Amino acid sequence: MKKTVLVTGGFGFLGSHLVEHFLKEGFAVVAVDNFCTGSRSNLEHFKAEISQGRLKAIEADVSQTWDSWVGVLESLPPLSFVFHFASPASPPHYQRLGLETLAVNSIGLGHALKTADRFGARVIFASTSEVYGDPSVNPQPETYWGNVNSFGVRSCYDEAKRFGEALIYTHNQKHQTQHGLVRIFNTYGPRMNPADGRVIINLLLQAEKHEPMTLYGSGDQTRSFCYVDDLISGIVKYARSNLTRPINLGNDHEFTISQLAETLQTIYTDRKLEIKHLPLPQDDPKQRKPDLTLAKRLLSPWTPQIQLREGLIKMRACL
Ligand code: UDP
Repeated sequence: MKKTVLVTGGFGFLGSHLVEHFLKEGFAVVAVDNFCTGSRSNLEHFKAEISQGRLKAIEADVSQTWDSWVGVLESLPPLSFVFHFASPASPPHYQRLGLETLAVNSIGLGHALKTADRFGARVIFASTSEVYGDPSVNPQPETYWGNVNSFGVRSCYDEAKRFGEALIYTHNQKHQTQHGLVRIFNTYGPRMNPADGRVIINLLLQAEKHEPMTLYGSGDQTRSFCYVDDLISGIVKYARSNLTRPINLGNDHEFTISQLAETLQTIYTDRKLEIKHLPLPQDDPKQRKPDLTLAKRLLSPWTPQIQLREGLIKMRACL
């Protein structure tokens, strides 16, 4: 066996793709999850790796003490990375689990840093494009400080992630460590939680079921959607670099939500997809597009490969 990686939120959408990536590379993997939004089914195809002891699945809340399970790392190859990906991430979930979201990105991240330091490993923290809030600059470069409401329905997520970034920065300064973070923009792909309420999984499932697609507001708001494989390859490249600064990761092709619906219509050629307009949620950002200049330069030759229509076809095949 090579080395070990620990993935908090290992049964979540992105966490489970990281687990899969490192298992395929021959690593031992510890996946920790409290299943508040993650799902056991996300790793059920790795039963063989669990029985071989290459994948350790631990049910625990990483905002609580790690004492009862962290000893498992002593019996595995040396720990190289701790990916701190545990957190509710979609608006309906983090609004329902606001205090848990604040805790896992602060106290939980503190535990991840402590454990990584003890084992000489590097933490990679899942930050988010939400640190830019409802941006007044488009596309958003890493140097943009954001336009964030600290006292509203999204603040438990946005401010928790901003706190996490500050914690990484300050911890590195104080302890001369090399932990890092990536700012993840809208990502989609197989194993998205259908209950997430995210636009791509919502619209795809509605199209599958011959139901009208729900477009919030006018549908003129924009997002830039990254297929999960492109995101994971960027995260892995970042982890293996010595970067500690925030880097945007995503896809820089920007679509309005109406254009997303039109793209889906080109895939579902056997039916007419109806559209139902619903009110725009509070504090819904009007536009979002990553400036990937830094990522493309510092993680060269990384660049997103899979464009929206192709990714939607791949995702549909996995439904
Ligand atoms: N959205 C939509 N219909 C849906 C779900 C979401 O029109 O069924 C909109 C939502 O208001 C937002 C965009 O799609 O403007 C992306 O929403 P999502 O929840 O996927 O991600 P986020 O707002 O966090 O970028």
